[in-house]
Amino acid sequence: MAERLVIIGSGPAGWTCAIYAARANLSPLVYEGAISEENRLRGTLPLGQLNLTTEVENFPGFPEGIDGPALMMRMREQAERYGAKIITEDITAVDLSKRPFVLKDSAGATLQSHALVIATGASANYLGLASEELYKNRGVSACAVCDGALPRFRNKPLIVIGGGDSACEEGSYLTKFASTVYLIHRRDTLNRASPIMADRLLSNPKVKPIWNSVVEEVLGDEERGMTGARVKNVKTGEEMALAADGMFLAIGHTPNTRFLQNQVALDEKGFIRLDDPFRTTTSVEGLFAAGDVADSTYRQAITAAGMGCKAALDAERWLAAKGIH
Ligand code: FAD
Ligand code: NAP
Repeated sequence: MAERLVIIGSGPAGWTCAIYAARANLSPLVYEGAISEENRLRGTLPLGQLNLTTEVENFPGFPEGIDGPALMMRMREQAERYGAKIITEDITAVDLSKRPFVLKDSAGATLQSHALVIATGASANYLGLASEELYKNRGVSACAVCDGALPRFRNKPLIVIGGGDSACEEGSYLTKFASTVYLIHRRDTLNRASPIMADRLLSNPKVKPIWNSVVEEVLGDEERGMTGARVKNVKTGEEMALAADGMFLAIGHTPNTRFLQNQVALDEKGFIRLDDPFRTTTSVEGLFAAGDVADSTYRQAITAAGMGCKAALDAERWLAAKGIH
């Protein structure tokens, strides 16, 4: 029998949607993602991006701040408490031409759902260098919180790349372990970061910014893994070899839409296009989108949660209008 509502994704958008839908007696089924090596490397393990961070200081209701993974576990528990069903697998393919929609999961199961909420968030970008690929897991990482405390990074010089809030957060976090944190940014200011986070990073004596620069190659060898990087100043063209045992990417995220195989309209940046900016409706009737996967502008936990709420209400009204109970 077809599900009434399947929610794909397990960040603030997915869980908020599940809480609202469960309380509306829709018995939503949440696909929270699989626990796999591929998802670990992509930063898309269950519980979303906040599960990869430490302190969350801007989610309302927690004046002292709250640990990211703890916040996500609380959202999950809240959804479960009201009756959301949870499957710890990925949705790997969808057929949106069929009614009900047909979905396939990473365990090989096929299921059907009348309504669908896509809340699959976004995953970390890499530079795309062949040498970077070679040293993933052996020095190159996109998650300081996951990997920063590993023995290979302790008291060693480390590189962080990026100029936004993620670079600030990753860089500040790595100062706990590193001897030096080289912040490599292709501009000469942290233009994308919030001032409070930029100040916190740049005022740390362990942090050494290398402005107007990019990594051209990750250096290393078979035995030791990454040992450094070839860095180029984009203004002068000068190159240098920088000794470092780790390189942490914080250069933004790409929305997780590949499994949709272009069956839903995307915008020019690859985010799901909402057909009404005040709602969560998309180009496919009965399919709703919430959170970072459909938001190239705000990308915050609270905005994702707000969109999750809207998606549940939109799905509930749509199901009712179709007479699907
Ligand atoms: P995500 O949190 O991205 O979660 C989506 C999840 O869905 C994925 O992780 C995966 O587990 C699952 N999924 C993906 N594809 C599939 C699939 N095919 N099948 C099944 N499941 C799937 N924002 C703040 O407001 N405050 C902060 O302090 C803050 N700190 C941050 C720190 C870091 C390091 C990062 C990277 C981001 C931070 N953000 C912060 C941004 C915030 O985390 C995101 O805006 C928010 O998590 C987006 O929520 P989401 O529900 O859209 O998706
Ligand atoms: P972001 O704001 O998009 O910043 C990405 C940074 O990476 C930019 O400085 C960009 O440089 C640089 N960059 C992009 N591609 C690059 C490349 N190929 N090589 C070198 N540098 C590259 O991404 P983010 O920092 O991940 O933040 C994403 C969202 O999450 C934001 O909305 C942010 O506020 C939120 N977030 C919030 C918190 C918090 O509140 N505590 C923490 C983390 C993230 P250019 O400027 O030159 O393009």
